[in-house]
Amino acid sequence: INTQKKKVGQNIKVVVRVRPFNKKESRGQSRMAVNCISPTEIQTKDKKYCFDRVFQPDCNQLDIYSYIVEPMINDVFAGYNCTVFAYGPTGTGKTHTMIGGDPSSLSSLDWRRNEKAGCIPRVATNIFDEIASRKVNDYNVRVSFLELYNEEIRDLLNSDKRRPPLNIFNDDKGAVFIQNLNEKNVFNSNDIHELLKQGTLRCQTNSTHMNNHSSRSHTVFTITVHIKEADLNGEEVLKTGKINLVDLAGSENIAKSGAKDKKALELANINRSLLTLGRVIQILTEKNNRHVPYRDSKLTRILQDSLGGHTKTCLIATVSPADSSYEVTQCTLEYAMRARDI
Ligand code: ADP
Ligand code: MG
Repeated sequence: INTQKKKVGQNIKVVVRVRPFNKKESRGQSRMAVNCISPTEIQTKDKKYCFDRVFQPDCNQLDIYSYIVEPMINDVFAGYNCTVFAYGPTGTGKTHTMIGGDPSSLSSLDWRRNEKAGCIPRVATNIFDEIASRKVNDYNVRVSFLELYNEEIRDLLNSDKRRPPLNIFNDDKGAVFIQNLNEKNVFNSNDIHELLKQGTLRCQTNSTHMNNHSSRSHTVFTITVHIKEADLNGEEVLKTGKINLVDLAGSENIAKSGAKDKKALELANINRSLLTLGRVIQILTEKNNRHVPYRDSKLTRILQDSLGGHTKTCLIATVSPADSSYEVTQCTLEYAMRARDI
């Protein structure tokens, strides 16, 4: 029984990334509220936390990518569904970690030579490098990019300005489908970079209409790889794997859940997805076969085939080092802690 627990636990990693002080914090002469005391431990004034890895403020995009995402490429080609979550308060580096670069100059970014590139542009490049080095002749790579806002799914690869909310349903075998979601065929890493750019710009356009849009929405960028390879007996086998890169809504929303203003419903919906995700991951790390409440939120329904079973998951908790953010940092570390198998 214990080995089973171990097996599942090894498939879920939880890491913390502490960003450097920003200008405002430096100007306000903020003091460090967290101390990275070892590669796996982080200390606050109240508590010491232990994670699979703690990334200090001076770590770079390649450090994060090499530890978390690069190993998943082999898994994708072996038929695993992999997911990386960025979880943390607004302004702590979720989008920086996932996309990186300078979003305002997104259209002119050359990701191949950009050390600021985050996980998505890097994995896009490496997937096609892997296809080339494995000499896979028969393959198909597809990308989808969606946004979940107020429990409504919208397709960021739909160029139609109206972008209606999409329906989600289960077929009779239990598989989850999102109706009319674009899955674009891509033929090289530039194609993926282009879709990332288009979708991100659409997402940013949404934010000019609604205050704080990006802090309240989740985005899911998915690359699916189908390959046909000869096995050891020379027989052709079809394999399908994918990687989901998820930029979650700001975790400060959970702390605000008591709010009784007109945004209360929206906050309740953000919380539903974040809280259900936490519960789902927690249950998956347990050894007993408890019911996994995938159906309790849209986010966990969308990712159902990528959480549990033949899957790999990494949660990156992003936090500010500053004492001015201490409370929300503490909440974020507690959430990440609960997601960890111990
Ligand atoms: P979030 O998506 O969590 O709201 P962002 O990724 O937009 O936060 O980051 C907020 C600001 O901080 C951005 O200007 C970003 O470039 C900067 N930033 C975040 N993390 C880092 C980091 N590790 N190193 C340098 N700058 C960072
Ligand atoms: Mg962001």
